Amino acid sequence: IIHVSNIKKSFGNIEVLKNISFEVNKQEVVAVIGPSGSGKSTMLRSLINLERVDNGDIRINGDYLVKNGKYSNSQDVKKITRNMGMVFQHFNLFPNLTVIENLEIAPKVVAGKGITDVHNKSMELLEKIGLTDKKDVYPSKLSGGQKQRVAIARALMMEPEILLFDEPTSALDPELTGEVLKVIKLLAEERMTMIIVTHEMEFAKEVANKIIFMDNGYILENGSTEQLFDNPQLDRTKAFLNKQY
Ligand code: ATP
Ligand code: MG
Repeated sequence: IIHVSNIKKSFGNIEVLKNISFEVNKQEVVAVIGPSGSGKSTMLRSLINLERVDNGDIRINGDYLVKNGKYSNSQDVKKITRNMGMVFQHFNLFPNLTVIENLEIAPKVVAGKGITDVHNKSMELLEKIGLTDKKDVYPSKLSGGQKQRVAIARALMMEPEILLFDEPTSALDPELTGEVLKVIKLLAEERMTMIIVTHEMEFAKEVANKIIFMDNGYILENGSTEQLFDNPQLDRTKAFLNKQY
């Protein structure tokens, strides 16, 4: 469902993605791990057009977001990226909207869905994340874990085929990460296609089918979860994994 080949990206004269290629199949959960500054966020943001790559191809569902560094027209880019939702480290909820308004704003603004449809969907998702009783409160009244669950529900409102997570728990106190990981696990059980950048190695082990290890702008190692954790090929990967425990 996602095909990335040879993407490169520089900020000024610093190349942060050096030659990235990987694929994600439908219903796979891919965890992206690696040290700070290795390019994980930049890679993820590139998939949803929050960053523009300088070179290479990104194909989503067979459609080229970018081919040989040349982007499709903005209409097509919109259509392609609408297949994807993203959840950020710092939630990015709209502070002046209630929980339910946060969920409903995007589908109401984007044409094509009836209002009752939107409302049914938002109520269903609130139930799923266990926050029906918080539907009319503002984000400032929520814990970090609750905010992040709302952010996940908000991304699901647009019924994306692919969900991208950039360190969804690293801004949370340890006792709040569990409730967020539980929602992501539930989505994995429902066979949602997901790419998750994370520092939570135990969680990656538990939920991911595939692991991508990035370092210094490269994918150094990429394989099944068992392969990567139990039998890493490179000393660099071993050293990184050893430091995580
Ligand atoms: P972390 O684990 O700390 O989140 P990361 O692997 O997500 O790190 P990126 O955020 O992708 O790393 O950053 C990769 C490199 O690109 C870093 O050296 C960073 O300083 C640089 N970088 C990222 N965004 C920008 C930007 N908008 N302008 C300039 N440099 C940037
Ligand atoms: Mg990052």
